[in-house]
Amino acid sequence: MAQTEQDPKNFFSSKNTNPSNILPQKLGLDSPLQFRCHPGISCFTACCHTIKIILTPYDILMLKRRLNLPADEFITQYTEPTYLEKTDMPGLMLKLVGEDQACPFVTPQGCTVYTDRPSACRYYPVGMADFHEGQNEGEGAGEQFFFLVKEPHCKGHEEPKHWTIGEWRADQGVDLRDEMNREWLRLVMRRKSFGFQASLSDAAKRMFFMASTDLETFRKFVFESSFLQTYDVDAETVESIKTDDVALMLFSFKYLASSLFGAPGLEIRKEKVASKVAEMKRHQEDAVQRAEKEYQELKAERDRMLAARGESGKEE
Ligand code: SF4
Ligand code: SF4
Repeated sequence: MAQTEQDPKNFFSSKNTNPSNILPQKLGLDSPLQFRCHPGISCFTACCHTIKIILTPYDILMLKRRLNLPADEFITQYTEPTYLEKTDMPGLMLKLVGEDQACPFVTPQGCTVYTDRPSACRYYPVGMADFHEGQNEGEGAGEQFFFLVKEPHCKGHEEPKHWTIGEWRADQGVDLRDEMNREWLRLVMRRKSFGFQASLSDAAKRMFFMASTDLETFRKFVFESSFLQTYDVDAETVESIKTDDVALMLFSFKYLASSLFGAPGLEIRKEKVASKVAEMKRHQEDAVQRAEKEYQELKAERDRMLAARGESGKEE
């Protein structure tokens, strides 16, 4: 079963629980873990209620595929907007339903989208801290470790099943999610590290939201606007993002990193830069010429007035 997460440091999900449920111990991939979650357990699906589950772009892609829905329908039906990691970056979380605030995919028999469940549901009860997030390439290796969330309601910790953290993560399919989510998480963490002093325009926020949640619209944006005339994208990438959603998603992270934070990886075409510079220069020259013309007109006007009063208009 997938889980909730109570760690204030955990990106993907949160519940108002006591931080003391996070064991104060840094764990590695070889650290032992005693845990099992299965339909016979007394707390089965307890963690699929009253929980905030943030959806990553890859989560959205997998769920909408699973449900055979276009992105906009999936978004309307199953999600609601939220802000990511206390930033002004807009994102989506699962929309809970009913009086018991249940995940829309939970039934008494368990999760109906289990093999495509979101990243948040796969991590529990093992959280990951990655202090590399938010850094630029080449800014140091960062530090990654794991920690365990142990809550009274979760009886999985009493089950006699022993793993290493690495084995548990492999079993939950977390490694692939890590890979798919990494660059997107880094965008959010970069934004967080800037703080609110550096504001993001509404257009930039809309672009981030569209690219992160609706790849169908992002694909139209790439192929039906002047995007490919503006950015230098190699032919192989252009071919793959036409039809491959995962390639398009990873490409969208590059685009966002470049357009929001000036990160390298996607360059504006040289001729575009040159024409932009020429355009700016033209505007500058035009402005100087306009100012000169206005000055001459004002001066002529002043001379006319002085001449009418019989005074000289000549400048000192
Ligand atoms: S998606 Fe599945 S595992 Fe995750 S909260 Fe919903 S029902 Fe539980
Ligand atoms: S064992 Fe823990 S993770 Fe599994 S259903 Fe119970 S509360 Fe959720």
